[in-house]
Amino acid sequence: MRKYIFCTGGVVSSVGKGVTAAAIGRLLKARGLTVAIQKLDPYLNVDPGTMSPYQHGEVFVTVDGAETDLDLGHYERFTGENLDRTCNVTTGQIYAEVISKERRGDYLGGTIQVIPHITNEIKRRIGLVGKDNNPDVVIVEVGGTVGDIESQPFLEAIRQLRTDLGHAQTLYVHVTFLPHIGATGELKTKPTQHSVRELRGIGIHPQVIIPRTDHPVNQEIIGKIALFCDVEQRAVIPLETTDNIYDVPLVLEDAGLGDYIVEQLNLEAQPLQLDDWRRLVQQMRQIEEPIRIAIVGKYIELHDAYMSVKEALAHAAVHHNRKLDVAWVYSGDLEKGKGWDELEQAHGIVVPGGFGYRGVEGKVLAAEFARTRRVPYLGLCLGMQVMCIDFARNVLNLESANSTEFESSCKHPVIDLMPDQHNVTNLGGTMRLGVYPCELTPGSKAAAAYQVTHVQERHRHRFEFNNQYRTGFEAAGACFSGLSPEGHLVEIMELVNHPFMVGSQFHPEFQSRPNNPHPLFRMLIQAAIEHEHEHEHRHEQQSQPQPVHPEG
Ligand code: GLN
Repeated sequence: MRKYIFCTGGVVSSVGKGVTAAAIGRLLKARGLTVAIQKLDPYLNVDPGTMSPYQHGEVFVTVDGAETDLDLGHYERFTGENLDRTCNVTTGQIYAEVISKERRGDYLGGTIQVIPHITNEIKRRIGLVGKDNNPDVVIVEVGGTVGDIESQPFLEAIRQLRTDLGHAQTLYVHVTFLPHIGATGELKTKPTQHSVRELRGIGIHPQVIIPRTDHPVNQEIIGKIALFCDVEQRAVIPLETTDNIYDVPLVLEDAGLGDYIVEQLNLEAQPLQLDDWRRLVQQMRQIEEPIRIAIVGKYIELHDAYMSVKEALAHAAVHHNRKLDVAWVYSGDLEKGKGWDELEQAHGIVVPGGFGYRGVEGKVLAAEFARTRRVPYLGLCLGMQVMCIDFARNVLNLESANSTEFESSCKHPVIDLMPDQHNVTNLGGTMRLGVYPCELTPGSKAAAAYQVTHVQERHRHRFEFNNQYRTGFEAAGACFSGLSPEGHLVEIMELVNHPFMVGSQFHPEFQSRPNNPHPLFRMLIQAAIEHEHEHEHRHEQQSQPQPVHPEG
């Protein structure tokens, strides 16, 4: 019988409920159990695909092409499982489904109400998770915090599930926050008490409380939370802020959470295997030598917009025993002559994905800089497209080269709308999305990175390389080292005479895992380390006193 863990949040948002749910997934996997994790998002958008990164951070793309919440990235990275479109549900999806059923006449004669129609649809969606792979445990994270008006139907639905599924099959975990009063140096439990009271008012009695805090939590505080919130002392698992999110499963495990969940849900667990994860985190902690990578984007003040890129770089850096040091460079600044010293000091450059014209010219300049200065470069989707635009403009001298996304009638559209996109009118969910196969050219850098010739990668784009320009590019030193199996779509472009300048039309960052870094990111970091050495070597040579010829 499948078991369910419901994670809710209280007091404030952004306390790491998603990472906590992901970490619980890791603890169960470490006991030989199979898991799936689902996020319920209370907003009315159908998915985050049409939202600004300022609103929502990164859009994470699943194998089956769903545009989802960035927490799904955490879930996948922590559990090593690929999730699918059933794993992110929004209020928008729920209402769209119920209203379309109503129009069809499915409820003929009835009045459609939040309870039971909306809550039934939420419960149906929860039931859809893991239909294919039948996980032992499904973890369901409810977005937002208790008390939000828009979260109410989700909370009501998970409350009902306790009776529907049976008490022994369900566990409720509540993540809160303990504020610290500077004047008295105290941690306060009152907001946690209020939040739990609110939850109990809805009919949910949390069995585990995870108070997040920036300060150490003593036994007295734990006792107080246990008493006032009516949970066992050992079910109060404080989670102090850590600078490494991969530490969270270890903190929770060491506080006894894994065993407590197994006991409460009566799970058939294997002996714990968390040593590899522990070693990895230990290694992350010990590494001191940095490697400096510039991420050139337009949402750089909001690092969440590039969550998977940053994580993939960090995984690859650890693989090479380096600590990732990111220089966040706003591409718009480069256009104004600012931020160039950051690029000068970087050992590698990444231009991630993006949409719209703002800052694009700065990204083209960053690609030109990487090409001419021979700095390792990895372009991701738009990052690959700007690499092509630079190459066309400055190597092939097609000065007006551009993408038709930015200049619809440009003379040299080296990046153009994909044919199947021409008649698309709706913006939501209509891009080329999800996993597609890609064949790699033997002998290329891409093939050397992957060590295989056939890969599957995740996509999210409307524009592509314009095949009319292929021969011209190839003659001037570009290699299309990754193509769709029938050869029509350019998936990877790289430069032949460059240490590492590779652009992918797909998003490799979504498939990187801390314990299995993505090959392209690994190779970028390797090239960056070599670049750093060369740089130092050149510097040393320049600063050495020149030997004076005896006769000179
Ligand atoms: N805007 C570009 C396109 O639609 C790139 C998309 C991306 O970087 N994800 O093709």
